[in-house]
Amino acid sequence: MRFDIMTLFPDMVRGVLSESIIGRAAASGKIEINTYNIRDYSADKHRRVDDTPYGGGMGMLMMPQPVCDCYDAVRASIPEGASVRTVYMSPKGKVFTEEKARELSKYDCVIILCGHYEGIDQRALDIVADEYISVGDYVLTGGELPACVLVDAVSRLVDGVLSSPECYESESLSEGLLEYPQYTRPPVYRGMQVPEILLSGHHEKIDAWRREQARLATERMRPDLLEKDDGGEG
Ligand code: SAM
Repeated sequence: MRFDIMTLFPDMVRGVLSESIIGRAAASGKIEINTYNIRDYSADKHRRVDDTPYGGGMGMLMMPQPVCDCYDAVRASIPEGASVRTVYMSPKGKVFTEEKARELSKYDCVIILCGHYEGIDQRALDIVADEYISVGDYVLTGGELPACVLVDAVSRLVDGVLSSPECYESESLSEGLLEYPQYTRPPVYRGMQVPEILLSGHHEKIDAWRREQARLATERMRPDLLEKDDGGEG
């Protein structure tokens, strides 16, 4: 699977995505991450990419020309027949979820457009974006961190990025519940004991305990997830 990230600050994105599991997945070719500096596509002799908004208002807006020319170059580099989805990272978008990550992981290529300053001229968005995605109901200075969040969450679901699908199948939100509590050595730490059942070696009982703990954790920390579940069944 391939990600093409359009941004004014490619180093921000490269720095984050070249580390750890995602960095290794890219280095070994399990995923491909390309970054593009939108400024390189500016037709302006001073390489300007932004201007003041028509109608007045604060701040600067990214102009359509560099964004659309960059997009055209990205599209031209994608092999014919590949399935492609173009996402604009925006606080106006639907909030990103594990379900959306799963949906995006089915595409051959996800193009991600990062805004900065006051955002991007609407015409460019109308031309390039299939959908807007937000990472939460707050406003960041740019789309670079949201793009990293999206690439990380989607990449984990790509075959071979994690050591086995079980790594994400039992995790929080994969089945609409939060994960059960987990413990490692030592068996007693600061007087706190690992639950006896986990040391019993009785796999059926451990599975039942984990299912119950997942339900309790969800009830306590994210009851809205259970309500959503009920709604789906009813
Ligand atoms: N004026 C825009 C608005 O009110 O919708 C906000 C612009 S924001 C300061 C600059 C850029 O950061 C946006 O174009 C977007 O790419 C990114 N951004 C900010 N908050 C975000 C969020 N919650 N999720 C995804 N992207 C975000």
